[in-house]
Amino acid sequence: MPAIKQPVNPAVLTWALQEAGVTRGELALALSVPDDLVDGWLSGEDAPSTTQLRGIAKLLRRPTSFFFLPRAPQRPAVGAAFRSPWGKKGARSLTSDEVAELRSAQRRQKIAKWAFGSVEESTPPSLPNRASSPEKTAHEVQRWLQWDVRCQVSASSKGAVTKLLRRSLEDHGVLVLQVSMDEDACRGFSIYDAQVPVIAFNGSQFPAARTFTLLHELGHLLAHEQAVCGSPEPAEERWCDKFAAAFLLPEEHLLAYLTYKRVGRVESDDIDIVRLIAQRYKASFLCVALRLIDLGRADWSLYEAVRNSPLEIEKGGFGGEPQTTPVRRIREYGTTYPRLVLAARDKGSLADIDARKYLNVDGKNLADLRRRLMEEV
Ligand SMILES: [Zn+2]
Repeated sequence: MPAIKQPVNPAVLTWALQEAGVTRGELALALSVPDDLVDGWLSGEDAPSTTQLRGIAKLLRRPTSFFFLPRAPQRPAVGAAFRSPWGKKGARSLTSDEVAELRSAQRRQKIAKWAFGSVEESTPPSLPNRASSPEKTAHEVQRWLQWDVRCQVSASSKGAVTKLLRRSLEDHGVLVLQVSMDEDACRGFSIYDAQVPVIAFNGSQFPAARTFTLLHELGHLLAHEQAVCGSPEPAEERWCDKFAAAFLLPEEHLLAYLTYKRVGRVESDDIDIVRLIAQRYKASFLCVALRLIDLGRADWSLYEAVRNSPLEIEKGGFGGEPQTTPVRRIREYGTTYPRLVLAARDKGSLADIDARKYLNVDGKNLADLRRRLMEEV
């Protein structure tokens, strides 16, 4: 018996492929069908079977019903600055993981913005403007976040600094999401908004790299930037890197430490010095190398040496805490987003069922999430 054909809308299928960053060849490969069969679906001359449609829906992360829409949705404005993985510079299109995470972050931002508007006492974050240099801007941002480098130095681990910085940004109104993408995907992205600016970081990075990504993305937000990965602007990327390194390794503090350690210039084979500084400031090796170069204490050969040295091994760790649903949600969503959703729920602007849906928890977990947020001061 021939398989039942599903009359999907070819325009919607074409749109969904583009949105997901999947080529027709990749779709054919994923479904183990010939390329010209996919061409037939895209031209409308042929249609997929029920099983094939399920495969398409799974790959493109859409419900099967989506492909029967009468017309393709209007393409959403991407409006995000993407940070490429190390060593992958230049134009490239977004991967399907990136597109999916970007879409999900935009959805959270939209919900958070709505919740923000429904709660009277909300005040928008007062992000500082960029100053004349990354150095001066880092100083301004430290003041804004009331960041004390001594806390960084005395923190128990690199992961503790990542957590401290994330909380600090969230307390100042930035929505910080941890997203799941593989190591080849971008390290993070940012979506500017005056009320709910968003930073997303790739959870596959080790803690010191996450800290750097948070700051780098913050650098983009300070410029209200709406750049898209794939249109590389090296000068802008470099600015954000310099800003992040200046924030984590303030000039005076670092130079005093180098004097104390009797370190003058750092040569490309001095990886131990890099490790020592990275350990003290809970920064990544590359961040230390960049900062030493900026301060005239090293040249680019150090950066290359660090980049080619074995990767920093560092455990992220969750502090041994059981990974219950509320713990996972706070890790993924941070605190700003659930706090806004709960505030709208408490005001009666949002039904309980919607609050649970937006936070992806059941009733019991919602209560637990609320308790945890109260404790996360
Ligand atoms: Zn960037």
